Amino acid sequence: MLIGGLSDADAQVRRSLLRAQGVTAIVRIGHIPGISGLWVQEEDRDLAETVLQIGEESEVAGPDQVCPRCSETSPPNFGMCWSCSASFPETREA
Ligand SMILES: [Zn+2]
Repeated sequence: MLIGGLSDADAQVRRSLLRAQGVTAIVRIGHIPGISGLWVQEEDRDLAETVLQIGEESEVAGPDQVCPRCSETSPPNFGMCWSCSASFPETREA
């Protein structure tokens, strides 16, 4: 899973929190300076969401969105690309 739209500092802090819980997280630097993402293995998803307390916010059904501009993958609840800030078209079914 990818946790996107974080500042560099935030990404580092969250990675440290996850590492303390035994979760390996990888900081991914985006194309926009100062904006990063955190990549966590799918098997660590539940623990990561608990540690970071993002479970409820990220409970959005649907596939990850692939950016048409830079091909990075963003969570389905994101309105724009975490990496290059391109807006996603409103294609989600109601
Ligand atoms: Zn993008």
